[in-house]
Amino acid sequence: MAGQAPLPSDPFPHNQVPPLEDYNLYAADPVLQQAVRRAGADWHEPALMRQGAEYGAAATLQAAEDANRHPPELHTHSRTGERINLVRFHPAWHTMMAMARRNGIANLPFFDDRPSAWAARAASHMLHCQTESGSSCPTTMTHAAIPVLRRNPALYAVLEPLLASTGHDPADRPPAGKRSVTVGMGMTERQGGSDLRSNLTEAVPAGSGEWGDEVRITGHKWFFSAPMSDGHLVLARCGDDGLGCYFMPRWQPDGRRNAIHIQRLKDKVGNRSNSSAEVEFHGAWAVRVGEPGRGIAHLIDMASLTRLDCALSSAGFIRQALVQALHHARHRRAFGRRLVGQPLMAAVLADLAVESEAATLLAMDLAARHPGTDPLDRAWCRLLVPAAKFWICKRAVALSAEAMEVLGGNGYVEGGPLARLYREAPVNSIWEGSGNVMCLDVLRALQRHPAESAAVLQQLAQAVAGAPAVAATCGALQQLLGSPPAEGLEPMARLLTQRLVLLAQAALLLQHGRPATAAAFIDSRFGTEWGAVAGTFCQPAGRSALLEEAVNL
Ligand SMILES: Cc1cc2nc3c(=O)[nH]c(=O)nc-3n(C[C@H](O)[C@H](O)[C@H](O)COP(=O)(O)OP(=O)(O)OC[C@H]3O[C@@H](n4cnc5c(N)ncnc54)[C@H](O)[C@@H]3O)c2cc1C
Repeated sequence: MAGQAPLPSDPFPHNQVPPLEDYNLYAADPVLQQAVRRAGADWHEPALMRQGAEYGAAATLQAAEDANRHPPELHTHSRTGERINLVRFHPAWHTMMAMARRNGIANLPFFDDRPSAWAARAASHMLHCQTESGSSCPTTMTHAAIPVLRRNPALYAVLEPLLASTGHDPADRPPAGKRSVTVGMGMTERQGGSDLRSNLTEAVPAGSGEWGDEVRITGHKWFFSAPMSDGHLVLARCGDDGLGCYFMPRWQPDGRRNAIHIQRLKDKVGNRSNSSAEVEFHGAWAVRVGEPGRGIAHLIDMASLTRLDCALSSAGFIRQALVQALHHARHRRAFGRRLVGQPLMAAVLADLAVESEAATLLAMDLAARHPGTDPLDRAWCRLLVPAAKFWICKRAVALSAEAMEVLGGNGYVEGGPLARLYREAPVNSIWEGSGNVMCLDVLRALQRHPAESAAVLQQLAQAVAGAPAVAATCGALQQLLGSPPAEGLEPMARLLTQRLVLLAQAALLLQHGRPATAAAFIDSRFGTEWGAVAGTFCQPAGRSALLEEAVNL
């Protein structure tokens, strides 16, 4: 085609697109930058600038690819038949784990007194997940385990310096000889992951030691991610006390390997760099953390942090889907123009940009409200963390597929970032409480805390008062909650949660977003024409500005 013939020196002839590498993920993201500043975490910006460059460097992108192309291997026994339960990783996995640790993602807010440390760490987490998300699993679990471990002060005193460390130490030996530790969680059993009360794994009292009540645990866990962690917080049933929370280290205090038998590693759709195991406990040593019989409550405290991380991570996925799609469309030509200039493609990309801004605003807003000393912040998080986990994680599944299609056939080919993103996206929606469970959580929060929930809705109503379509939805939601239908709200929990998230995103966009995004979001998400696929909105006026400003490359 005239005007498209490659120059002799063109390194990417035949209308192919140069790989996106050696760019700065943070510098390219004006929405994330503003969210960080709004949260008062400007002090973290030099680190985020450094991290943004590190996560976009060609060498890091290659490490992320390698860590997933060479998945972990299980070695149950030594050459001489001893049970070793060892998982071996490609060196690139350790590169990614070390990066996450160095960047504070495993611990920052717990060892930095500034409330804005939560938003600072959330921004780092969003950047990390855009490049390699498997390593975020042990990292986020370690982070979320810290407040639970503090419930056993004697144990925590020993672990604290190892949790506070920013070094990655993968050595398989007792914590006493290590620079840092990682901690996982073990709740899900064969018979149920959502319904944790069905847990059968049994803890038998085994006396009291320097860290408190010791037990021997027998049973199994059907999903037990990061089995090479130095310890797991495990849910087990202890006689009449019911389900308790126990710290089960990989090595017993007497220096012997604990009786945790890794049966096999899951062969997962995505998340392939990370190991997720099926394990059996054969009288494994553990020590109680928290109150007897309060195991589910303690582990749900941990899950509320990992759920927020799922929302942040999926906001990162949507952002990365947008970045890759826009990069491609800015270079690739079809029918005499760059794809980005084709009106229909521009509508698809603008929809991705709108969704990305809304997801980032909501996820970062929730992180900034932590640790939640203000009652309204606490009520906001109680309702909107599960709602955001439900919605943003589901949107990431749909939009990673949409971004893949922007790249045409190249999007569907392994080796590029979109194939991996597409396979990674659903896990955030499933683990730590699947979609329905999150919506039922929202409902429970509405019903158990009616006054606080009404205050959140009132705040939303004020924020959207100037936008009639949004205000009408808010009014309808308030009315529905005030007089629920005879069959109850449970069958409507998804619809209700969707409305709540869209309201919150509209409110945040009106307060802090770019006017073009707020207008496009409201016209589409609160209009009658918006469809289930991206690109069904018509906002010709704002579209080109939206796309120019979305990704600063
Ligand atoms: C990659 C990966 C890693 C994981 N790592 C860990 C880990 O480290 N530790 C750990 O403990 N677990 C882990 N899990 C398990 C995960 O948390 C569970 O799979 C999840 O909680 C769902 O539990 P389940 O698989 O038993 O499904 P079920 O509980 O059987 O749920 C199946 C479906 O039914 C829905 N459902 C359940 N109850 C209701 C209801 N009342 N009303 C309507 N719908 C309902 C759910 O939303 C879900 O869609 C991991 C899972 C994956 C995929």
